[in-house]
Amino acid sequence: MNLVLLGAPGAGKGTQAKYIAEYYHIPHISTGDIFRRHLSEGTPLGQQARTYMAEGKLVPDDITDAMVDERLRLPDAIRGFILDGFPRNVNQGTALEVMLADRERHLDAVIYINVPRDVLIERLVGRRVCPQCGATYHVRFDPPKVDGICNVCRSSLVQRPDDRLETVATRLSVYSEETAPLTAFYQERGNLLEIDGTKSVQSVYEAIIQRLGARHD
Ligand code: ADP
Ligand code: ADP
Ligand code: ZN
Repeated sequence: MNLVLLGAPGAGKGTQAKYIAEYYHIPHISTGDIFRRHLSEGTPLGQQARTYMAEGKLVPDDITDAMVDERLRLPDAIRGFILDGFPRNVNQGTALEVMLADRERHLDAVIYINVPRDVLIERLVGRRVCPQCGATYHVRFDPPKVDGICNVCRSSLVQRPDDRLETVATRLSVYSEETAPLTAFYQERGNLLEIDGTKSVQSVYEAIIQRLGARHD
């Protein structure tokens, strides 16, 4: 199963991707997570991405495309993948088509999680993440058992610097201008499955699995 998860920042892509990856036994490939790992490890790629990420802008396509191409070469991606946060503009969408064609593969579906702007802002500013294990929480919608502490590894939770209100506005504009046109791009290709992302995590997950299943019956 070769899948793409499309949706604005805060739509719930990371949350859903984790479950979908488990369900289909495919790797969850998040370009944001890969970039953040490079940042924390101080690699040259991390240095290149740093300013763009801090400002909420997109990292240039050549850097991002090469990183995804390399990730798709790893053996675990042979059985499939779920891409979360890539492609993020039409140019990257075209680059992905070329990468897949080179491997004689194609996308099975593009899941578009649709959430209105006011809900996105509420989700982003309340998001807390574990810097140690990557687990994601929300101060109101999915609080940890002990305030500020990761359930999984007991580390102190942090707010992503780009989840502060100032940067959130930029990220949402970047999404509308650069990423939103991908819904039409995939609609034309007959790949788009639109899901109402305002429901509970469990309901959204069930809707996705049901729609994907229906496509393959
Ligand atoms: P994305 O990867 O699209 O940026 P996340 O999966 O990190 O989004 O979710 C953003 C925030 O919203 C997180 O704090 C997460 O806990 C919360 N969240 C995710 N899905 C839901 C949902 N269906 N209902 C309420 N909160 C959610
Ligand atoms: P979100 O919660 O907004 O979905 P991500 O974790 O996917 O956040 O992305 C965080 C940041 O990483 C983005 O604001 C951008 O700077 C960079 N990034 C992630 N994926 C891409 C991509 N496909 N192209 C360019 N930049 C990206
Ligand atoms: Zn943790």
